[in-house]
Amino acid sequence: MLTTRARFLAAATNVAHLPHHRWPEIAFAGRSNVGKSSLLNRLTGHLKLARVSKTPGRTQQLNFFVVNEALVLVDLPGYGFARVPLAVKDQWRQLVEDYLTRRPALRAVVVIIDIRRGLAHEDQQLLDFLAAHGIAAIVAATKSDKITRSEAARQAAALRHGDGLDLHLVSAHRGDGLDRLWQAIEQAAGAGDPPKHSTERREKPRATQVR
Ligand code: GDP
Repeated sequence: MLTTRARFLAAATNVAHLPHHRWPEIAFAGRSNVGKSSLLNRLTGHLKLARVSKTPGRTQQLNFFVVNEALVLVDLPGYGFARVPLAVKDQWRQLVEDYLTRRPALRAVVVIIDIRRGLAHEDQQLLDFLAAHGIAAIVAATKSDKITRSEAARQAAALRHGDGLDLHLVSAHRGDGLDRLWQAIEQAAGAGDPPKHSTERREKPRATQVR
């Protein structure tokens, strides 16, 4: 079942301003332009719920959406802009690392990739960071409508077996694979589990960094 109700909860530009709430969180990450907003909008059934912005270097923020009064989806700022100043990249890394490592409500990160391109360097770094911190990763390989079904299936199999990814092939435009992706999200969110108390903290990050 895809979502029936979704609403904007809050935006945060640093971890001191993360919203307090009682639901489990699932974060969404991906290179800019990969199709993150389209996927979020399609999953929540709300066109333009996740604001589409193509401006590199704009203020980096986390956006929180409550879905079905049962879980919270967190839209992380896109990464991988080619010509972004280093200071902005550092700001992104700091904000995202702080969030990922200090958020007890976080249950999993959906890492969105383009099925035609596979894993970019930044995607791999993010996956390594998540693994190093014991955070579950669900990979959504989107834009499957851009290639033939057999090509998409072949690519997906290579990524699943070669890289050991929990990968879902989806298309935000055609709607393919969204039910299964949503099931995985609900499962990761542990529907029915009481959320951990917000005073719990994860360990501080080790040497691995997201760039
Ligand atoms: P974001 O920067 O990651 O939020 O990416 P957007 O959601 O704004 O999408 C970037 C571009 O990819 C837009 O032109 C979308 O219409 C297109 N796009 C997103 N998802 C899909 C998809 O599943 N199939 C196709 N063909 N295009 C898509």
